[in-house]
Amino acid sequence: MKTDNDKTEITTAIKNGSIKLAQKESYNSLLSGNRKWVAEQLKGDPDYFKKLSQGQSPEVLWIGCSDSRVPANQVTGTKPGEVFVHRNIANVCVHSDMNMLSVLDYAVNVLKVKHVIVAGHYGCGGVAAALTHKQFGLIDNWLRHIKDVYRLHAHELDRITDKDAKINRLVELNVIEQAYNLCKTTIIQNAWKEREDLQVHGWVVDINTGLVRDLKVTNNDSQNLGYVYELNPEAVAAHA
Ligand SMILES: [Zn+2]
Repeated sequence: MKTDNDKTEITTAIKNGSIKLAQKESYNSLLSGNRKWVAEQLKGDPDYFKKLSQGQSPEVLWIGCSDSRVPANQVTGTKPGEVFVHRNIANVCVHSDMNMLSVLDYAVNVLKVKHVIVAGHYGCGGVAAALTHKQFGLIDNWLRHIKDVYRLHAHELDRITDKDAKINRLVELNVIEQAYNLCKTTIIQNAWKEREDLQVHGWVVDINTGLVRDLKVTNNDSQNLGYVYELNPEAVAAHA
């Protein structure tokens, strides 16, 4: 006769077994998904991967949120090879982030991309978290950059009482400030001295519709940055 203890052990073993099985299935589905995707590409073009392996010349750098619902290629209807991508929580661009700077430098100076797009999205969990006063752990240090954006625009944001409207406006302002941060870098400013075909844009993806909203903050000139951030000899002479 089985005791209550035995029954609990059996129930736990069955539960653990089904968890492991589900985990294995979700993992295997990635590999079978890959094989299906490869077969589909080859059906459309037998040389697809041969061509892809010859190199990349994307014209766009996408700096977006890590959120799984906003993949750069799908949102823009582009194919592998067409968009160089960097993603982090809440699409933050800070000049002390070696990862972001390395991606930006390579995209601008080696790949010679023509468009750098900071792409946020409405309902961003990172932005929503930054609007609270809770501690989330290590990520609090990252979200601080978004709190800094709030402080810059507190006069506007403090007046918004609807919670979702406040999150979404901070999403927009965060994109605008992060795009501005990119323009302040020597990478972008030096590239502008060399060529005229480099633009920095700010976008927000509406997850409810899939549509992109261009925030119309496109910049292609250091002179639009304000003299504090402008890095060239003429600016120094003009404000000496
Ligand atoms: Zn997000």
